[in-house]
Amino acid sequence: MKNIPRRRFDCLVIGAGGGGLRAALQLAQGEAHVAVVSKVFPTRSHTVAAQGGINAALGNTQPDNWHFHMYDTVKGSDYLGDQDAIEYMCRAAANLVIELEHYGVPFSRLENGRIYQRAFGGQSLNYGAEQAMRTCPAADRTGHAMLHALYQQNLKARTHFFDEFFVVDLLMDKDGYALGAIVIEIETGEPLIIEAKTTLVATGGVARLYRTTTNAMINTGDGMAMALRAGIPLQDMEFVQFHPTGIAGIGILITEAARGEGGYLINAEGERFMERYAPHAKDLASRDVVSRSIYEEVHAGRGCGPKKDHVLLKLDHLGAETINKRLPGIRESAIRFAHADPVEKPIPVYPTAHYTMGGIPTNRFGQVVAPVHTGPEEAVPGLYAVGECACVSVHGANRLGGNSLLDIIVFGRAAGNHMLEYLKENRSHRPMAEAAVDRAMARLTRWDKQGEGESVDKLCDELRLTMEDYCGVFRKQDLLDEGIKKVTKLVERLQHATLRDHSRIFNTARIEALELENLMDIALATVHSAAARHESRGAHSRLDYPKRDDRNWLKHTLYSREGNKLDYKPVRMKPLTVEPFPPKERVY
Ligand SMILES: Cc1cc2nc3c(=O)[nH]c(=O)nc-3n(C[C@H](O)[C@H](O)[C@H](O)COP(=O)(O)OP(=O)(O)OC[C@H]3O[C@@H](n4cnc5c(N)ncnc54)[C@H](O)[C@@H]3O)c2cc1C
Repeated sequence: MKNIPRRRFDCLVIGAGGGGLRAALQLAQGEAHVAVVSKVFPTRSHTVAAQGGINAALGNTQPDNWHFHMYDTVKGSDYLGDQDAIEYMCRAAANLVIELEHYGVPFSRLENGRIYQRAFGGQSLNYGAEQAMRTCPAADRTGHAMLHALYQQNLKARTHFFDEFFVVDLLMDKDGYALGAIVIEIETGEPLIIEAKTTLVATGGVARLYRTTTNAMINTGDGMAMALRAGIPLQDMEFVQFHPTGIAGIGILITEAARGEGGYLINAEGERFMERYAPHAKDLASRDVVSRSIYEEVHAGRGCGPKKDHVLLKLDHLGAETINKRLPGIRESAIRFAHADPVEKPIPVYPTAHYTMGGIPTNRFGQVVAPVHTGPEEAVPGLYAVGECACVSVHGANRLGGNSLLDIIVFGRAAGNHMLEYLKENRSHRPMAEAAVDRAMARLTRWDKQGEGESVDKLCDELRLTMEDYCGVFRKQDLLDEGIKKVTKLVERLQHATLRDHSRIFNTARIEALELENLMDIALATVHSAAARHESRGAHSRLDYPKRDDRNWLKHTLYSREGNKLDYKPVRMKPLTVEPFPPKERVY
């Protein structure tokens, strides 16, 4: 494979969402020669869809501080979050949100000109006392505003972009160093090797694993699957967040900000049922709690509509002015997709797959960490990961709304800084590992196979339905075991699937085939990790093990692709400077 063209950079950033772009900016400003690769035009990355806002204890409407935010995040994570990383994130939040403002993010404003802050789920003052107003929005299009500002800053800093290039696999040498990646240009279908002294994976989440999802078509977990294939285990993949309010039947997101601004859920009897499940926080309880409550209402026969299969989100009492000012995008989505104008009538909603808490294990510098020959964990030299594809882990078993936009900014910046340090000590490119290039190319050429075989689309639909039915909001051993069998069969069937169109030019079917391979790897990671965890914690709800079990399960899962092996590692309970928050019962 000597004739594949090659390009060389100091740093390769895979992914142009908020995580990748924040890191790239740090690198470009630090005088590194940085390439960003994205399979879609950068401002189409899923970050653009983020609605509700980004958390920071700015205290613009009430006295707030980062330690309250830290408490909420640790509690929200159901104590599975690493407290050193959580402290780091919550402390950094205020400065980095102000920095975003200076980069040009048009945040919503209070009368006095300061950044407006809204209520969001799981956020409190004084360690669980009153509801906090901590989430900083740009109306209900926060991610859009952030991503565009970060893209423009990168253009100014002269980051080099490879737009609409698809990364097939990471390239690693036999000593475990990251050397870059092999990519294909989607327009021409031609491969290219991008060599780099250090590589960052920022490929986003994988909620496309489920049929009903808020996620963009592109969220297929490519980076996580690349890590698995490179021998790096994935952490805590059983924890999948279901957002309580997707438009029923479609899954499109209605932001938590709708409840933050005063909206609430009702069942077929018109009852405000969250008062029963979370008497204190009600509709602003943590997402896992609200999703399960909706599910239980529907399964108890109190669902709405002819099929009694959803509940209603009521907003009309807020009035047209507030809805138009604070939730304009939501109003548009509801009218277009649910045929319900929230100014006049409630929106039909049901839980929808939303966010991946697990991912590539990293420390708080963004370095990927993996066990070395089953020994203790060490940093993988030159390899970094941030954002939704990574597990640092600040979200533990359940992410709080508004904490992901924060996570990508905080750890994007931290990873950029650490990569600059790494470059000081690793000044030259290492020799390319030709064996790794051949392996990656074999993945590509496998799809050139002619002849009859199943279609990729059909297998993809089956996979997403299987995950919904066997590894959804509520889980049970027999269902999960059956889920493992079903996914394993689908993986086998995929090996015999073929493409009908083998052309190179803008062949999106070829890209979708590679994406489905990635989804299959992640599906296996998710069901295996879920079947083994015999407790309920955060988003992982087991009907057969309804309680959290700290004695046996206060630990992170590590799933390896080879042999579907599971290992565990302790949660880092010790913060950087403050006292730990010890586990206690989680009530809202
Ligand atoms: C509808 C919606 C609303 C949300 N609202 C909020 C909110 O209000 N507040 C909040 O905190 N969080 C919110 N979230 C979560 C948050 O937006 C995401 O977790 C976060 O933006 C992810 O950023 P990222 O940089 O990790 O990845 P993404 O923004 O998903 O970017 C991934 C990048 O990787 C690239 N990529 C992936 N695979 C490949 C490949 N094989 N080759 C080349 N490039 C590749 C993509 O092209 C893209 O550029 C929301 C999520 C959704 C889905």
